[in-house]
Amino acid sequence: MRTILSVSSGLGLRKVGLTGGEPLVDVPKLTQIGQFCLEELHVPIHMHTNGTLVDEHMCSSGGVLTLFESVSVTFLGGDAGTHEYMTKTSGSFARAFRGTGIIAEAGLPLTCYYIPTHGTCESFRELTPKLHDIGVKRIRAMALAPSGRARPIYGETAPTQEEMRQFEIDLLEARDRLGVYVEAGYCTRLSMPNLAILAGHDVCMSGRNRVHINSKGDVFPCTAASGVKELRLGNVKEDPAALRKIWVESDIINMIRAIHNGGLAACDECNRMPNCRDGCTVNACGTMSDVERAMCPLTNPQLRGQLR
Ligand code: SF4
Ligand code: SF4
Repeated sequence: MRTILSVSSGLGLRKVGLTGGEPLVDVPKLTQIGQFCLEELHVPIHMHTNGTLVDEHMCSSGGVLTLFESVSVTFLGGDAGTHEYMTKTSGSFARAFRGTGIIAEAGLPLTCYYIPTHGTCESFRELTPKLHDIGVKRIRAMALAPSGRARPIYGETAPTQEEMRQFEIDLLEARDRLGVYVEAGYCTRLSMPNLAILAGHDVCMSGRNRVHINSKGDVFPCTAASGVKELRLGNVKEDPAALRKIWVESDIINMIRAIHNGGLAACDECNRMPNCRDGCTVNACGTMSDVERAMCPLTNPQLRGQLR
């Protein structure tokens, strides 16, 4: 990990994000990573947690969570029934809610992430005031991405348009009524049009300023792309220095850059344009028909090498 971070530093690393699994299962290691980033690389860190392991000690002076520029707790539903339907872990909602309260009470920079799915959207309506009551000031909406474990079941798991529309309206209404700050990234605003009024970066950042490295050392162009086999850029487990070559020379990342810049010839004739150019390659890979997959260089390796 240290070597990968040091190589990244040489590439201009500006921020580190840690996600799971669950980062708080190994607090000593997390502390070491946090201190290394802050004290030796001088870059801020943020962390995504499920919130279930948070305790007061972690949030008090010198505690591991005080190392982070920001901490996010993810809710997959707005109550125990919906959240635990997704986590498959009994009691996880109550523990996440308790952990969130501890972080908020300590005054640490906290954002609660909402990932709505089919059947869970409405439940968030009641969660927002409860979070507000325990001191949560920021909520971020996240659209489910067709990647990782969600990809094979994306068709059944993604919310319907009407569910999504109501979720967006509920969130904006809570923002106005309670004064919570609501945000959504570019990828999310693409699929939640009512949230398009929210501030955020206005382009896909894949290929521009980020990579995601999973626990096996596989490198992907963004966190949502993790586990999308078509978007695997390479591996740095045995050779962390390979990250530089991957960032500069990977066929996939250069193809993504070309898609965004209009430099991939195959896109000219494709009916998914301009959605891919202005949109999300993770979504494209996860939702193409078989015919589209056969015609796209991202999903058909035999068509690679078509950059202008
Ligand atoms: S599906 Fe492939 S070929 Fe079509 S627009 Fe998207 S990236 Fe280009
Ligand atoms: S590929 Fe999609 S999920 Fe990844 S940064 Fe771009 S828009 Fe966001």
